[in-house]
Amino acid sequence: MRLFDGKAGFVTGAASGIGRATAVAYAREGARVVIADIEASRANSEETVAIIKAAGGEALFLPTDVSKADQVKQLVDTVVSTYGRLDFAFNNAGILATGFTADIEERDFDRIMAIDVKGVWLCMKYAILHMKAHGGGVIVNTASEAGLVGTPNAGAYVAAKHAVVGLTKTAAGEYANMKIRINAIAPGAIATPMVLDLPKEAQDVLMDPQPLHRFGTPEEVAEAVIFLSSDKAAFIIGATLSIDGGATSNA
Ligand code: NAD
Repeated sequence: MRLFDGKAGFVTGAASGIGRATAVAYAREGARVVIADIEASRANSEETVAIIKAAGGEALFLPTDVSKADQVKQLVDTVVSTYGRLDFAFNNAGILATGFTADIEERDFDRIMAIDVKGVWLCMKYAILHMKAHGGGVIVNTASEAGLVGTPNAGAYVAAKHAVVGLTKTAAGEYANMKIRINAIAPGAIATPMVLDLPKEAQDVLMDPQPLHRFGTPEEVAEAVIFLSSDKAAFIIGATLSIDGGATSNA
């Protein structure tokens, strides 16, 4: 018996990086997974679906912009109409914006809030509305070490990820007695396009606080999400789990 046999859910930002690795891991554990990412990432999203199918799993891609309420509602409806149920939501899509606080452009601030904060809230909202009416479920939100400590040159991102931690804690308490278990993860620097596309000097700054002096892998993050989503984590509620190789251990 695998951890998610018979279960179904969605992963946002699953075209790439942490989302892809986690979608593949849910499917390996028996889950049917809707791959939710933007239309511009269609080719990579379809590749995630192909990886899952090649391993004998079930998945489909639904173009979804998490900052749009109608598309998020459609995402939840699609999981339920296709697979008959919604057991888990991994609210992971996010973007990074850099810049010192006074140099951040208003449109960049608004965009990061729309995707990294409102997107997580919308995904929680529509998942919770379904789970409340159908006996519960599990939600994991992707925050960041930037949700736990300040980081120079990333004020908007830090603000957004602190907001994800706050939303997680609040909703976790509100819905725990309705059998909806909600937690967050706080990855450190992980080897995904978000980090690997940065200039070398910026990568070095991210690497610096990590005592192991290496980036984490998306698969290492995925295993933590699988654990948090499983019944093995039944008594973990409202937590933000650091997966950062010790980067914030001295913070
Ligand atoms: P990534 O860039 O590989 O993946 C992010 C995915 O989100 C992409 O596929 C992108 O198309 C998708 N996306 C962007 N905007 C979207 C939208 N509006 N709607 C739906 N999907 C959208 O990066 P990643 O590192 O895998 O990032 C995943 C999450 O992990 C993000 O929330 C990021 O902030 C967080 N995170 C990453 C790191 C890291 O070091 N890589 C560390 C901490 C937290």
